[in-house]
Amino acid sequence: VFIAFEGGEGAGKSTQVARLAASLTDGGHSVRTTREPGATALGTTVRSIVLDPANTGLSARAEALLYAADRAQHVHEVVRPALAAGQVVLTDRFVDSSLAYQGAGRSFAESDIRSISHWATEGLQPDLTVLLDLPPETGLARARGRAAADRLEAESVDFHERVRATFRALAAAEPGRYLVLDATGTPDALAAAVRDRVAVLLGA
Ligand code: C5P
Repeated sequence: VFIAFEGGEGAGKSTQVARLAASLTDGGHSVRTTREPGATALGTTVRSIVLDPANTGLSARAEALLYAADRAQHVHEVVRPALAAGQVVLTDRFVDSSLAYQGAGRSFAESDIRSISHWATEGLQPDLTVLLDLPPETGLARARGRAAADRLEAESVDFHERVRATFRALAAAEPGRYLVLDATGTPDALAAAVRDRVAVLLGA
């Protein structure tokens, strides 16, 4: 079973991945948590390139392909082997992040980003995607409070509004495969909502 967590900056994805992993592990499941970009050795290098604010000359096309390369390696090296071993795989970001950031954010055609992503993953799709939805102002304030700025935080609120709108549109197009949560809720309330939905998915 493959579950993705998506959302903008500061939405609380990593907290919720960790909370769900803990509860599934308690329930006797074997769980693999992972993330994009940066889950593999190649991905760590890609992450340092795409997030470094000093890389002002990075072209948007090169950036999109670097994310795709990170994802191809991630699927090949981490996600597919873990799924084949019967683990529940929880990823912090997947294809939707590219559709939102490299697609809507950078104004590339969604169909192009979709086909690059499909090629990179050989069509692998999450069984469930949890969207932690949050107004960009709230998320950016949270993100800025906790870490050094990355390249994306320098983008306009309009960029982040396009990202949010894309995540929401993707969820609205496939309601059965998404759980959309208001990420201004408490971590406990969000974790409980995720747990309930995943219990249904796992047939528990
Ligand atoms: O989720 P995390 O904080 O690790 O993401 C790191 C940065 O990479 C964020 O600024 C995020 O917006 C950006 N990102 C992106 N395109 C992706 C995935 C992440 O621009 N496909």
